[in-house]
Amino acid sequence: MLTAEQISKLRASQSPIAIAVQRCPTWSSLEPLVFKRYWDNESNGVLLNTGQTAYFTLDSPSRPRISGGPLIGEYIFEQMHFHWSVDDFTGCEHVLDGHGYAAECHLVHYNSKYESLEAAVAHADGLAVVGYLLEAVDAPNPSFDMFVEGLEQIKKPEHSVVLSAESLAWMNREDVTSGSYVTYKGSLTTPPYTECVTWIIYEKPVQIGTEQEDAQIIYQNVLNYI
Ligand SMILES: [Zn+2]
Repeated sequence: MLTAEQISKLRASQSPIAIAVQRCPTWSSLEPLVFKRYWDNESNGVLLNTGQTAYFTLDSPSRPRISGGPLIGEYIFEQMHFHWSVDDFTGCEHVLDGHGYAAECHLVHYNSKYESLEAAVAHADGLAVVGYLLEAVDAPNPSFDMFVEGLEQIKKPEHSVVLSAESLAWMNREDVTSGSYVTYKGSLTTPPYTECVTWIIYEKPVQIGTEQEDAQIIYQNVLNYI
């Protein structure tokens, strides 16, 4: 079993990757992540259509933080974004044991010992990205409703909408937050592909209704994957 100290010393590789679950350190050897002030944050967030993705940020006074698991110290939330595709199987960036999903959500954090995300990318322990795989199923997932309503209001690039942090409540499910995850040292998936990211990918997908996902697929024509 690897400790967080040992994981921090693993050689980084380019991301994304096809993950063989058995070959990564998993929950069985690691503590759960600790999420602070995400869905229970008083601040409002902004959801922006960047022309490439839907991009969510929160007002800064009390930014959410994660710690625990493979991380040493605290990491500060910077932004959340999505990767989608035209079908239900290729939208994800990571493939777990050969299984693809409709979409993948990334929560990007930087190490609190650095001043900003920009400063942190120069360091191997600079970023921590939490990834959720989204699985399209027939039944809608009500905890995604606030988010989907927000997406429907930003159909055009540069449009944005204010959303409360409560729209992140879909993350707050016992089976997800205390479920197993795989972790590896990797890189940004966009240029300059710096190897500065501790990736943490939850194994259990979050279910989203196909109709809800259709609201997201509105963007497929303008989306490039980042
Ligand atoms: Zn991403």
